[in-house]
Amino acid sequence: MTNFTATRAAFHMPEGVIYLDGNSLGPLPVAAEAAMARAMRDEWGEMLITGWNRAGWMAQPRDLGDRIARLIGAEAGHVVLGDTLSIKVYQALAAALHMRPDRRVILSDSGNFPSDLYMAEGLVRALDKGHELRVVTPEEVAGAITEEVAVTLLTEVDYRTGRLHDMTALTTRAHAAGAVAIWDLAHSAGALPVDVAGAGADFAVGCTYKYLNGGPGAPAFIYVAPRHAEAAFPALSGWLGHDAPFAFEPAYRAGAGIERMRVGTPPVLAMAALGAALDIWEGVDMPTLRARSIELSEMFIAEVEPACPMLRLASPRDPAKRGSQVSFRFDEGYAVIQALIARGVIGDFRAPDILRFGFTPLYLGTNEVRAAARHLTEVMAGRLWDRPEYRTRAAVT
Ligand SMILES: *Cc1c(COP(=O)(O)O)cnc(C)c1O
Repeated sequence: MTNFTATRAAFHMPEGVIYLDGNSLGPLPVAAEAAMARAMRDEWGEMLITGWNRAGWMAQPRDLGDRIARLIGAEAGHVVLGDTLSIKVYQALAAALHMRPDRRVILSDSGNFPSDLYMAEGLVRALDKGHELRVVTPEEVAGAITEEVAVTLLTEVDYRTGRLHDMTALTTRAHAAGAVAIWDLAHSAGALPVDVAGAGADFAVGCTYKYLNGGPGAPAFIYVAPRHAEAAFPALSGWLGHDAPFAFEPAYRAGAGIERMRVGTPPVLAMAALGAALDIWEGVDMPTLRARSIELSEMFIAEVEPACPMLRLASPRDPAKRGSQVSFRFDEGYAVIQALIARGVIGDFRAPDILRFGFTPLYLGTNEVRAAARHLTEVMAGRLWDRPEYRTRAAVT
């Protein structure tokens, strides 16, 4: 069971805001403010450099990794935090390609987040061994897993449409073809139950500032399946992934297991905020969260669709095939989102025409969902989006 009244009270929400963008940046956990102040004052301020030992800073990427492990079905001791998700994608992909030296194809899909594809492109160029990044439509992925494929690099939940890949089926298929499976959990961790170990994933990566609410720029995570942990190739061989960082040896030796996926100095202040966010997750049962997320998103679709015939549902209609977001298509989607934000309803826009709404039961209830649907209906019915001030694009959408 999960007490959603308690989880809601654990977040700061600005007055008058209905927040449907926790899929992009989670809100501030109330306790994060004090946790960060404590880390600054009592640890950094008072302990200075001794905080690495006395406050346990050095162990935090592993400690927090274990707390995330529970949420993604990973074995304890096989998740570590650090860097950003783009970096973790690069590391996982480099390690996976190293496991299939005789193959050249990286398979991904057009629903993947561009940064994952960009990082793959960059790695292909850096390796300069003739690898190919093959991008097919999400529907074509299963059929495209051939014996040429070295690695499948897939994001479980499509950031635009919310379409959910079948992680177990595709991983099984990848393994049957002799490929290595990497899963990006950016829109899965904290959004729905995930079982990386059960699915047989070889590597998984994700970020902590979306559904996990760790704060802007919070560190990313990486999971390496235990069966690969001692052999995984560390492409970014920084000193904190060394077997003995404080021996300051002239040459790199990979650290034990998941430690080798660390790179450099961990973001201690950011981890303080993330720790407070993960405290909230301690009381959350993922199946209960999922049921509630489906209830909220189904309610939103049921209210919006009949009232807004100009919007086309971009997400799968079957909630079992969606993550925790609902998207609609509309050519003037950017202006619609701006008009909604002016009314205190925050969703976001993803080019070219996607209006995206995240449903996060930890701090959203049925009243907010109904009110958001009403605002959207008013904006659409009254063409309130059709004003010059709503069409001017900001740098960050
Ligand atoms: C949000 C997101 C990213 C962002 O990467 P950062 O390095 O954290 O900026 C990458 N990949 C996917 C699939 C995402 O959804």
